[in-house]
Amino acid sequence: MLTTGVSDIDEQASHIVTIKCQGCGAEVVINTESQLQARCHWCRQTLSQQTQIPNGAVPDAVLPFHLTHAQAVEQVRKFANKRRLFALKKFKQEFTPENVVGVYMPYLLVDGNAHADIAGFGEIKTRQYQRGSDNNKTTYYDADVYQVTRSFDFTVDDLTIESSSARANQNTKQNTNNVINTILPFDTKNAVRYDANYMGDFTSERRDLNVEEVMPVAHSQMLSIARQKATDSTRYDRGLRWESEALELKGTRWVAVLLPVWLYSYYEKKSDGSAFLHYIAVNGRTGETMGSIPVSVPKLLLVALTIGTVLEGIAIAIVANF
Ligand SMILES: [Zn+2]
Repeated sequence: MLTTGVSDIDEQASHIVTIKCQGCGAEVVINTESQLQARCHWCRQTLSQQTQIPNGAVPDAVLPFHLTHAQAVEQVRKFANKRRLFALKKFKQEFTPENVVGVYMPYLLVDGNAHADIAGFGEIKTRQYQRGSDNNKTTYYDADVYQVTRSFDFTVDDLTIESSSARANQNTKQNTNNVINTILPFDTKNAVRYDANYMGDFTSERRDLNVEEVMPVAHSQMLSIARQKATDSTRYDRGLRWESEALELKGTRWVAVLLPVWLYSYYEKKSDGSAFLHYIAVNGRTGETMGSIPVSVPKLLLVALTIGTVLEGIAIAIVANF
């Protein structure tokens, strides 16, 4: 069953507009009632109403921010401070954690009811023994091999799936999109019915992926949940090898939700003229923080070399003790 928001477009919310950023191409959703001079949450370019594009579908639900701006600034500062040693000088000079902005990121949540059939082979050790002379011993294992099949029903609850194609497309040469997924999970159970008033000063990102488009991702995530459940229920101490697996989705329920993220972004312009988008993301509920900062390669090399030398020194010391 699809809930209405997943397919409908709300014509009423006329003060909610979507603008294509001319700096980086992001599709940014803003509330014109509270933001006259909005900036792109990725590249900080001022957004121009001239490049307005049609709104995406209205979300069903929103998880309101819990962390304040001040708390987010503190999280970003702590994250960067821990990595100061390797950070690019320019990044340190321009570091302004107060620029962190609140963004609602579009996700699809899915509840699913599925049936899994998984089959393979498992081994249980029956004996372990050694053969050979004193200085040339080999250890042998005897094991029984069993054919294992598991057939079961299971449910998943609030599986969280990316619904902006720009972020689902993870080109690690140009950006670090995958960082957002590392600050999951969110307490999605506390999401409330969407209301444009939650937008306030926050921006959002246009959802442009529909249920059919994210279905393959949902299917493969559910399959790996099924595989895990099947593995957990066995006692094969010598390992388990699944060889065939099938998943039948009996029913799904989808909810389009906005999740709160504090974002600090930094554009690194490389010497070859290319640009790399770095950012530090803070979960707007839990404070979980992850990110990337531009590093100075010579400094990293120097540290790697130093560690390498120390390890070599230890290895030599061990050899010398024999
Ligand atoms: Zn931008």
